[in-house]
Amino acid sequence: MSTGIVTGAANGIGAACARAFAGAGWDLVLVDRDEGQLVQAASACGAGVEILAGDVTDRSVNAAAVTRAEDRFGGVDAVVANAGVNLARSIDDTGDEDIERLFAVNVRAVIYLAQAAHRALSRTAGSLVIMASKTGLVAQRDSPIYCATKGAAIQLARALALDWAPEGIRVNAVCPGIVDTPMLESFFDQLPDPERARAESATAQPLGRLARPEECAAAALFLVSEGASFITGVALPVDGGFTAE
Ligand code: NAD
Repeated sequence: MSTGIVTGAANGIGAACARAFAGAGWDLVLVDRDEGQLVQAASACGAGVEILAGDVTDRSVNAAAVTRAEDRFGGVDAVVANAGVNLARSIDDTGDEDIERLFAVNVRAVIYLAQAAHRALSRTAGSLVIMASKTGLVAQRDSPIYCATKGAAIQLARALALDWAPEGIRVNAVCPGIVDTPMLESFFDQLPDPERARAESATAQPLGRLARPEECAAAALFLVSEGASFITGVALPVDGGFTAE
């Protein structure tokens, strides 16, 4: 039996990761600040699930997730650093609070989780997946701070892949394109013409539709699986061909 930790597991891609991992027989510690939705997401996963309500920008929440996995399930085989926030705003209109919030959740919290889980992953020769974004590979208009955080997340994955390879720990990033989740709705709502953005986004990806959260979860599950045993340091687009253009 394998044990995983998924952050941002209450909604969207994180909740889909929880369902996918649970369906593959994993025990899980699910972390999110949205306790109500987290309880609901956990109930879709069956037994072998622990929930931890908290903010991942708090270092102690990440440490507690690892401790919970070790105490309840005996170790950590995989970590999915998925919690994230977006911001559709020009650089001129972005204040200190927004800059701090985006880097805190999308970068600093991922570093905290990696630090907290390093020893546990070393013991199991486990795997870390960072849910980055295609916006870390190619830029997107109107979201400079978000793009910067996702670029940082991808480089963090690559750098840790090098540093942790001698311990047998693999580290990879998943780079979703436009995915049908609550985050996408909040992104549209921040734009001047949400209806137009909604309509255009469906056709922006060569496969001609939005991604489903389950398609990103499947990539994460693959990357932590034995089938990916020689894959480390990659940034895997799940974007319907967007970054191929
Ligand atoms: P979502 O908003 O639907 O879900 C994100 C979850 O993270 C929420 O449950 C939220 O409560 C949680 N979260 C946010 N900040 C937190 C914090 N500080 N502490 C604890 N939990 C916190 O988002 P999603 O679309 O499922 O995105 C998941 C990941 O995928 C994010 O990192 C996002 O940047 C990335 N991503 C999403 C898309 C997309 O189109 N939806 C595209 C590319 C990348």
